[in-house]
Amino acid sequence: MSTFQAVADLIYLLTAAGFVIGLHLMNSPARARHGSRVSMAAMAVAVATTLAVISHNGTTRAAGWAALSAGTVLGGGAGLVMARKVKLTDIPQLVSLFNAVGGGAAAAVAVSELVRLHSGSGSGLTPRVTITSMFDVIIGVVTFTGSLIAAGKLQGWLSGSPITFKGGRLANLVAFAAVLSLGGLVLAPGHSLLALGLAVVVLAGLGVTLVLPIGGADMPVVISLLNAFTGTAVAMAGFVIDNSGLIIAGALVGASGTILTKLMADAMNRSVLAIIAGGFGTGDSTGTAPSTGAGVQPIGADDVAIQLAYASRVVVVPGYGLAAARAQHEVHALAEMLEQRGVDVSYAIHPVAGRMPGHMNVLLAEANVPYTQLAEMDRVNPEFPLTDVALVIGANDVVNPAARRPGNAISGMPILDVDRARSVIVIKRSMGHGYSGLENELYTDPRTHMFFADAKAGLAQLIASIKDLVGT
Ligand code: NDP
Repeated sequence: MSTFQAVADLIYLLTAAGFVIGLHLMNSPARARHGSRVSMAAMAVAVATTLAVISHNGTTRAAGWAALSAGTVLGGGAGLVMARKVKLTDIPQLVSLFNAVGGGAAAAVAVSELVRLHSGSGSGLTPRVTITSMFDVIIGVVTFTGSLIAAGKLQGWLSGSPITFKGGRLANLVAFAAVLSLGGLVLAPGHSLLALGLAVVVLAGLGVTLVLPIGGADMPVVISLLNAFTGTAVAMAGFVIDNSGLIIAGALVGASGTILTKLMADAMNRSVLAIIAGGFGTGDSTGTAPSTGAGVQPIGADDVAIQLAYASRVVVVPGYGLAAARAQHEVHALAEMLEQRGVDVSYAIHPVAGRMPGHMNVLLAEANVPYTQLAEMDRVNPEFPLTDVALVIGANDVVNPAARRPGNAISGMPILDVDRARSVIVIKRSMGHGYSGLENELYTDPRTHMFFADAKAGLAQLIASIKDLVGT
């Protein structure tokens, strides 16, 4: 190995350390931004190092520089515009698009390398290159089309309900067997490029048929899984073109995506396999008429204001509806108002509240809610019996006591024990269900009052009512 290459590899190793430090800093909300900056700086160094490596390689200098510059300007520019414009609630679909691009790019690297070696003397077509290339193509192409379908479901371009067809699972198995056979032809002496082309087409279809049967509300877990796939495909691409930076970065994404997928599935008390098998979760309800059915106790803004203003301790429980209504600033304003009156206010954060990991943390951070007021489930649950008012805003499944019983979709999922508070106020538009599609018996609990409103409008009404009540 030349001294130049040794130095380049050392720099790649340092950038990898930068990625790990960046990930570590993201463990805490207070340091997460700093973690992002460290990771971005490490990635910039990795790209610069790759440019230097290309410059050092005289034969591909001009073409390499042109391709990398065009890719950086086009891809970086598009990514920057999309990331700046995206609404917080649309981030899962953006991540899915990024997964598609990552998986597709990794597969394209492997296909182009196989075609290039095939068109040359063929001497470079060693088992190490062909086997890793084929793995890269399989994972990358499935991730590409699967992520596009996932993004389409989340964006509402495709139905959020599971889309199944008769014999679908058998067709997937047959397609997978066909890919393995075609892969064998690509690896065998002669290295059939036709087989490679056919495999790409079948894999593209497989990505579609694997993701279509999965319900829209399961998509965030699937996106996390596809993110892990993207990382693995990128690591494979690193092996194909012998780039240690890609191998390390891809392996980190693959490992962290896998851990996150497992954590999300565990927090929902479901197995990753059950999620991939599909058929659960129909997406979000659009809100039905408020119900005055048996046991439901509707309440108006003025009565809620009295309970809140004269409470000693209030725990806010945010859920998906708070994000959908973009009501984070209103909830912070209400909390500040209560704190000025000496009320002890905190926020109970369920690990799978909302539609993406850390959704509530990000949302509340955007409204400058102090991190110290956010309480994780294990810490806050013992405090509910000492809480005067649990103010549930747009949360449903994460507070549904049905989870404590066997035999339903959320059985075993740990929940926030709001029903143990002295009084429960729920702000939501209707008796509409959440992600799991289950009725919520909390809403008919004698301690619960339903304040039927859009979260943003309802909170604004509460702020006005408290002002009227206490005259500030
Ligand atoms: P849910 O999806 O259970 O319920 C959300 C509630 O918000 C609905 O019942 C809806 O009722 C209400 N809502 C919707 N829009 C508004 C609005 N504008 N104003 C007021 N309320 C509104 O949310 P939770 O956060 O309780 O639970 C999250 C669920 O998502 C869990 O089941 C979890 O497993 C699942 N999940 C979470 C993931 C994550 O990473 N966080 C990933 C995948 C799934 P209404 O229509 O009556 O207003």
